[in-house]
Amino acid sequence: MIRLYVRADLAPGTTLTPTPEQARYLTGVMRLFLGSELLLFNGRDGEWRATIAEVLKRGIVLRAEEQVRPQAFGPDLELIVALVKKSRVETIVEKAAELGVRRVRPTLTRRTNVEKVRLDRLDAITEEAAEQTGRLDVPAVDDPARLDAILDGWDPARRLMFCDETGGAPAFAALTAAGPGPWAILIGPEGGFAPEERERLLGLPFTTAVSLGPRILRADTAAIAALTLWQAALGDWDR
Ligand code: SAH
Repeated sequence: MIRLYVRADLAPGTTLTPTPEQARYLTGVMRLFLGSELLLFNGRDGEWRATIAEVLKRGIVLRAEEQVRPQAFGPDLELIVALVKKSRVETIVEKAAELGVRRVRPTLTRRTNVEKVRLDRLDAITEEAAEQTGRLDVPAVDDPARLDAILDGWDPARRLMFCDETGGAPAFAALTAAGPGPWAILIGPEGGFAPEERERLLGLPFTTAVSLGPRILRADTAAIAALTLWQAALGDWDR
């Protein structure tokens, strides 16, 4: 059944008008009609069975009927990813959403040569991935921030999986040794981390430096590999 991410609160009988794009998708592309059923979620109220209550000249009205799944969240996992070129950033964000990340933090490091991201585009990607994966929440994507600033404001209760292409421990063993809890994964830019960045990272008490094997992976491959490892070792893949 079609799943749609909406921002409105969801309660029995709530009526809401989807965006024009969503309305076009439902009636135009998916050929739904008056009375058709679909699923709605907003990241707060769980998942709701809904119907198309009205089809107007301009748009449609949806009505939430009953909650079919209570709100739930995946593991508390963030991805801090150095900016690389646009298309790869979009791939990384989509895969991070599919792999259960709660928050994506684009970061600027000594060797990033990209400064900006199109947040509206990345939000559309995470919403679509959340709809497709059956998630009940949509990962947040932050404005790009400098790595030093992110580390300065770090909550030490969150462990940091520092993917270090020049060293690091065997990842699966290191992750299972460090144990579950709030984590973040850090992936560097195409040019890798600068020596002073690596030095700072290795000196932090909450850092676990890991290797993703003997081959140098592109940032998007490294992000997918690290997320997969983390989910298998500490995440919600045990079901
Ligand atoms: N400077 C490197 C490339 C960096 S790859 C070089 O050309 O030699 C981009 C990022 O992916 C790295 O900063 C690291 O975070 C991650 N990465 C890639 N391969 C890795 C590996 N084998 N082990 C750990 N991290 C890796």
